[in-house]
Amino acid sequence: MNKQSNKGYKNISYHKPKECPYCKNKNIVKFGYRYNCTKKKQRWKCKDCFKLWVIEDGFWKMKKTRELITQCLNLYMNGMSLRKVARHINQFSEVKTTYRSVHNWLMKYSFMLNPFSQTIDYDLSRVYHVDEIFVKCKGEQHYFWDIIDRDTRVLVANHYSTKRDGRSARTLFLKVKNPPMRLFSDGLQGYRKAFRKVWGQKTRRQDRLIYTRLKQSQDRRNNIVERIQGTIRERVKVMRGFKAIWSAKAFLELFAVYYNFLRYHEGIDSTPIEKAGINLNLEGNQWLNLIYRSKGIF
Ligand SMILES: [Zn+2]
Repeated sequence: MNKQSNKGYKNISYHKPKECPYCKNKNIVKFGYRYNCTKKKQRWKCKDCFKLWVIEDGFWKMKKTRELITQCLNLYMNGMSLRKVARHINQFSEVKTTYRSVHNWLMKYSFMLNPFSQTIDYDLSRVYHVDEIFVKCKGEQHYFWDIIDRDTRVLVANHYSTKRDGRSARTLFLKVKNPPMRLFSDGLQGYRKAFRKVWGQKTRRQDRLIYTRLKQSQDRRNNIVERIQGTIRERVKVMRGFKAIWSAKAFLELFAVYYNFLRYHEGIDSTPIEKAGINLNLEGNQWLNLIYRSKGIF
């Protein structure tokens, strides 16, 4: 095991767990290392029940290094297809991988990071823009719905549906934690009814909820919707040919995580999450640190 291969893990190998995962006792000590095919990991021992364990850092049973895996996630989210990512890795590194592995990693980390991203409370302007984009799955037209906060560009909620109707809009609205002060949408009729059903027509002076439907022919303000949604459209539109609904959903949810946490936004000169007043200290390998964060490390 050379020194180079321990790089990246060094940061967290001395992260001391708070308690024993088996008996919740606080009396724990270091107890050697566990070696696997990519790294050596700090092992811990409970002085009470004498059990040994290593910290679960999000890479349990992974056969490739965490640097390679996070690199693949980043390449894919930046716009490359699965096969292009695999070809890139095979060309520029000594390890070989396939597009299937890249696919599996994307699924795994989507299921890991998405629940974590839901737990964060943003400081939002509550002026929202809602839009739906069509994606192709099993040769059919499905839809990806999203709501974006205007000032911070945070993707507040997203939803995947097989139909473009009011019911799907309602499901999307129900996922929003902070109700909007203003909501802008495009021409779809279903939004108005969904808005009324979910948030009602409150006319309290302090906290008035306003819904505005923007028509492309009538109002140039629809350009704002298009511009704000531009980044998402750009990536999602090339994600074609999903084979199953669950995987399409997972891809898009991971993209939402990438968009909120990691993607540098030129319009606001930071990532959306930083703009919303949250600092996760994701320096260096941002994907890696985000995965550690979701596992409660740091
Ligand atoms: Zn114990």
